[in-house]
Amino acid sequence: MPVKRCPKCGEEKELTAEFWYYRNDTGEFRSICKKCWKDKSREYELKYPEKRKEAHKRNALQNCKRARQWYNKNKNRAIGRTRNKTLTDPIFKERFRGYQRKSAEKKRAELGGSYIRKMLKQAGLPVTDDIIALKRQQITMYRTLNQFKQFRKEKENESNSTNV
Ligand SMILES: [Zn+2]
Repeated sequence: MPVKRCPKCGEEKELTAEFWYYRNDTGEFRSICKKCWKDKSREYELKYPEKRKEAHKRNALQNCKRARQWYNKNKNRAIGRTRNKTLTDPIFKERFRGYQRKSAEKKRAELGGSYIRKMLKQAGLPVTDDIIALKRQQITMYRTLNQFKQFRKEKENESNSTNV
């Protein structure tokens, strides 16, 4: 097995993926060993925390985009795979239910188009952009009114308890 001497730490290590990072772009191992590369990255992160945050955000966005592209291309496969997993993996099932719940709550809070569309369909109403916009206004008004009622009720309770 060939060995290579790391110019940073001076250690000789076997030239394998265990000790050296492989670069896909150049088709070669990095010039310094894995451990030194990790140390260097950590130093860089400590020195420039903002840069790390930016890169993290960029990567997350990129991954999100890629995942969505894949999903749109393989929708049926993805749905089947998730269904199978919920049947065989109880931990995954629980996690997936939680995710669904959270997503539904978010849609409800944000009054997204798909949320209102579903609501109109269930009520047997026609689904057009105008009606969606009207329904959104109606729900917003209704929610504000409820908040106000709730607020008034709390105030009443407060004054009742101070009078007693
Ligand atoms: Zn080294």
